[in-house]
Amino acid sequence: MTPFREDRTTAATLAGEIRCGYSPTSGAPACETRATWHLAWTRTPEEVIHSLICDLHMGWVQDDLTYADRHPLSADCGMPGTGWHDGTPSHCGPPPSDDAPDPVRSLR
Ligand SMILES: [Zn+2]
Ligand SMILES: [Zn+2]
Repeated sequence: MTPFREDRTTAATLAGEIRCGYSPTSGAPACETRATWHLAWTRTPEEVIHSLICDLHMGWVQDDLTYADRHPLSADCGMPGTGWHDGTPSHCGPPPSDDAPDPVRSLR
């Protein structure tokens, strides 16, 4: 069970901005404040389990939950065809070309 939901359809229809997916209980309406953080719950070599959340809920997560990584939301975060690139800080973008190896993990 996770207090977060991923609902791109809702996010995409709200003025073109990505909204926080935090929901206090299963089935409750999501926060829908403009998201500012891209949060990775877990990372494996293949994929990232992630959420897009606002400043307020990033604070809650930092207080109460364990996560793998995060970075400020960018235009590439959560977009089709992009993935999570490791780094300091990490970032999202299209996969690297074959001759420029760079670990990239698909988002789920
Ligand atoms: Zn929120
Ligand atoms: Zn991102």
